[in-house]
Amino acid sequence: MRCVICFEEILPEVTWSTFYKPVEEKKMCSTCASKNEKITVPGCTACFRMDSKGLCRDCLQWQKTSPGVLDGNKSVYAYNAFAKDFVARWKYRGDYVLLEALQEEIQKGLTGDREKQAVYVPLSEEREKERGFNQSKAIIQAAGLQPVSLFQRKHSEKQSKRKKRDRMEAENPFTLIETSPDPVLIVDDIYTTGRTVRHMASLLKAGGCPSVSSFTIFR
Ligand SMILES: [Zn+2]
Ligand SMILES: [Zn+2]
Repeated sequence: MRCVICFEEILPEVTWSTFYKPVEEKKMCSTCASKNEKITVPGCTACFRMDSKGLCRDCLQWQKTSPGVLDGNKSVYAYNAFAKDFVARWKYRGDYVLLEALQEEIQKGLTGDREKQAVYVPLSEEREKERGFNQSKAIIQAAGLQPVSLFQRKHSEKQSKRKKRDRMEAENPFTLIETSPDPVLIVDDIYTTGRTVRHMASLLKAGGCPSVSSFTIFR
């Protein structure tokens, strides 16, 4: 078995505890695994930012500008150099097998959220064709959950990039097709500013959804 990240051979560790049991197949070598920083104690309890105590500045700001929209975010790993490399390979080169390396921790991270509607972030048709898959849907599937489609994108990501200024001024790129009477969990790869998930959450809340939180692999 080779490491899905660096392709080095993974030597099975044999200890007294593994001696009688079949050795668990690892997808990532210990060097790569050590570069992937797990968020054990989130700094900000609302968004899982690591370098903060209590509510971070962004969350305090969100509380003022869009109170009660997102009921919290959970993430599994820090978005560090390893994570950036991982995401670039996974998303842009379509290396599907990479996600399997994080599958177990993703599933653990979703403990307690499995009853919620796992809603994915839609891509434009153009982008999905180009990439070959939807990253958010892939994470939900890797977690063994059913991806729920409640949104559409208004226009392509390229257009919205061109109009970055407008986008910053809070234009919502999503349209809600259907609301949910049950709690929703929006799943994505990275939580950066939290704007994307709040765009979606605001529409859901306006449509009567009782609770909207988010889950991302990286923060
Ligand atoms: Zn490796
Ligand atoms: Zn925060």
